[in-house]
Amino acid sequence: MTTSKELFERAQRVIPGGVSSPVRAFKAVGGTPVFFRSGRGSRVADVEGREYVDCVGSWGPLILGHAHPEVVEAVVEAARRGTTFGAPTEAEVELAELIARRMPSVEKARLVSSGTEAALSALRLARGFTGRDRVIKFEGCYHGHGDSFLVKAGSGALTFGTPSSPGVPAALAALTHNARFNDLDSVRAILEGHPGEVAAVIVEPVVGNMGCVPPRPGFLQGLRELCDRHGALLILDEVITGFRLAPGGAQELYGVRADLTVMGKVVGGGLPLGAYGGRAEILARVAPEGPVYQAGTLSGNPLATAAGIATLKALGRPGAYEELDGKGRRLEEGVRRAMARSSLPLCFQRVGSMATLFFARGPVESLDSLGDCRTDRYAKLFHALLRRGVYFPPAQYEAFFLSLAHSDEDIDRIAQAVGEALGEVEGA
Ligand SMILES: *Cc1c(COP(=O)(O)O)cnc(C)c1O
Repeated sequence: MTTSKELFERAQRVIPGGVSSPVRAFKAVGGTPVFFRSGRGSRVADVEGREYVDCVGSWGPLILGHAHPEVVEAVVEAARRGTTFGAPTEAEVELAELIARRMPSVEKARLVSSGTEAALSALRLARGFTGRDRVIKFEGCYHGHGDSFLVKAGSGALTFGTPSSPGVPAALAALTHNARFNDLDSVRAILEGHPGEVAAVIVEPVVGNMGCVPPRPGFLQGLRELCDRHGALLILDEVITGFRLAPGGAQELYGVRADLTVMGKVVGGGLPLGAYGGRAEILARVAPEGPVYQAGTLSGNPLATAAGIATLKALGRPGAYEELDGKGRRLEEGVRRAMARSSLPLCFQRVGSMATLFFARGPVESLDSLGDCRTDRYAKLFHALLRRGVYFPPAQYEAFFLSLAHSDEDIDRIAQAVGEALGEVEGA
């Protein structure tokens, strides 16, 4: 039998860090990454034959669970007809129609191959449409690894951003400003400091990438008003929240209108697919209708569109979102009972089927509120859960995700394991 340890050693010889994406390397929790072999419904199995209840769901896409029969069937059928044409197909029209029907602010959408590609394309479009270069993002939000997003705050609110990764030109980073999530004043200050220069404000409407952090009441509406006053576009990055929190994503749940929406994860049903869309007037600027260039050999890929359509159709049945929220609520109740038995400072935050258990007093409203967060304790919790057959995200500042495949029994098992694991963390 091949072990995860053996595979990780082999991987490190030919893949940087042994992984295809950094968080998979377990740097935040220590130990050897688990190599998976298969998944079905709410469960995954590793190469050593151990089974886990999966609370990661490939970081969000698997809202129906692993290997959902309708998704598998759609992909297999599409593969038999040919995997790529580099030419238009009916399926991409159908998926774009489904997206436009569900997402309140999306009239037209362009399909791409990842959330990263969708976000950087949306930003290019916002710059091309407004004729402006600056962008405002929020500390702790993630929009993929496009150069303009790998930027951290300078020393003051109005100073220029600086690259958070070597390889990002300082001249480009200087055009990205970091504001504080849930703090409209921090956005206003940047907009007023650079009048007529900001192309867009981009935000995760519910943050998933510093753990689950919901917007304060009025925050998203306030961003809408600030953007309108300053002629900037509001880009909602709904790569996580889109089709997860409501049929029309966070913009439906919170009643906010985006100019552009970035999509990924759920919309691809577990295959590589992203999309960006919005007002027809703005999308009319995208090539070949307009001058803003963006293209892709595998864009609108038949396998990915088949998986996306099957997933969105399955989510279209009545009651799907109530069910997802009910699962989240059941887990929250169980975890809160476990938290009540612990003396550790803990904070549980949830919106629908996404949630995070922070080892901090909370409430967590922005990256600032994570100063006292005990990521070392999260690492202990993670391994204690792993030993109990529950796979949590291998990093504190990530949300975990439930799917329609998680049964009440699965959820009670997770809550029970969290209770035991918290006891272990406290005793350590
Ligand atoms: C995952 C994610 C992305 C990037 O998507 P990839 O498909 O990983 O490139 C962008 N924005 C948000 C909010 C995400 O969670």
